[in-house]
Amino acid sequence: MKALILGKGVSGRGAAALLGSLCFAYEFYQDGDSFSDLSGFDFAVKSPGFSINHKILRFLKAKGVPILGEIELAFRFSRGKIVSITGTNGKSTTTALIHNALKTSGHKTFIGGNFGTPFSQFALETTQETISVIELSSFQIEDLKSYRSDISVILNITPDHMNRYKKLSEYRKAKLKLIKHSDITVLNRDDPYLKKLKGDNLLFFSRKEKTDVYVEKDKIVINIKGKTEIPLTELPLKGVHNVENYTAAATVLYLLGLKEREITKGLKTFRGLPHRTEPVGTVKGVSFINDSKSTNPDSLKKALESFENVILIAGGSDKGLDFSHLKRLFKERVKAAVFIGETAELLARTFGSTTLTVMANSMEEAVRKAFELSEEGDTVLLSPGCASFDMFKNFEERGEVFKRAVLKLKEELEGKVES
Ligand code: ADP
Repeated sequence: MKALILGKGVSGRGAAALLGSLCFAYEFYQDGDSFSDLSGFDFAVKSPGFSINHKILRFLKAKGVPILGEIELAFRFSRGKIVSITGTNGKSTTTALIHNALKTSGHKTFIGGNFGTPFSQFALETTQETISVIELSSFQIEDLKSYRSDISVILNITPDHMNRYKKLSEYRKAKLKLIKHSDITVLNRDDPYLKKLKGDNLLFFSRKEKTDVYVEKDKIVINIKGKTEIPLTELPLKGVHNVENYTAAATVLYLLGLKEREITKGLKTFRGLPHRTEPVGTVKGVSFINDSKSTNPDSLKKALESFENVILIAGGSDKGLDFSHLKRLFKERVKAAVFIGETAELLARTFGSTTLTVMANSMEEAVRKAFELSEEGDTVLLSPGCASFDMFKNFEERGEVFKRAVLKLKEELEGKVES
């Protein structure tokens, strides 16, 4: 058997590792390579970065070459249970939370997919006892065929990737396709669109109203076959969005059969991922938060809802997203904003009448300007609401540059800092 692997990024290399272990022959195709003389392939493996309308896919389809997504390929060689997590925001955090609880309670578990290791990389190591926790992007879901998830989660669906999807309805459709590939799907009832869905294999969680799993005072109440309560006190991740992530994770863990104390321990011992509302430290009484992974309006909204007296640093690549619905929140929470990147002008036009806004040409300049605008007790929040590719390699680099700029400022103003 010989495969053509489309894309040589993380997913493509993961697929190559799997096919190599199976002694399949393979070749890589990269965007821009000529393909008219390609022949002799039994199937192709598609990385999620390739749009279904890419000319190589049309060419392969016309030649009758079967095309599998990288996740689909991995699934076909995996064993054990699968938990799949999708949503516009919170996927990585919730995936890592579930994985942490499974690990701390002694289960054999793997984590991967859109987050960290590609599924193909560990598919052959799974056994009947394994629980694989897989983060899926809408692009990966589009390519699913026979993939079967024991439990899936859809955390929320809000506008994003409008440079790849023509309409929000197309993006929603891609995410909702996961329901068809799952025995049970756990949905966020606080999402106005997900709330409307009906079906025997759906379970709902909510922060705001009583449903299958809900938040009451300081606890998560799991109201499925009797009541189980998980305390929310002493959990380290702050912010309303993390209450949602905790609730979704607790629901999945309960369905997988974990006991109340195992779920509580699993949630409590998870310290959070870098670049997601990550505390960086204080300079002269001003707190700095790195939320570089915030790449769309809803993650920016959730970050603003989580902090008060904010000096915001936002802006980045333009994905054609609208921010105007955040005006009221800006008025309530944002004392001043420093805008950077491609969308700086757009953001200044949108929020200029509600908030004091300034522009910066680099992250270092943005950090300095934000600090100058702040007073003791304020929070300087980097939550760009936009992708990073206009100024940085990725969101990780953007967050690291921010953290370094904060440390440099601290050193200058407070003296040597121990690293
Ligand atoms: P994803 O993998 O979906 O991008 P992450 O957990 O990496 O999700 O978080 C991405 C961004 O979204 C961060 O800015 C984070 O603070 C924010 N976020 C995390 N969970 C949620 C949620 N449930 N709803 C909205 N925003 C969230």
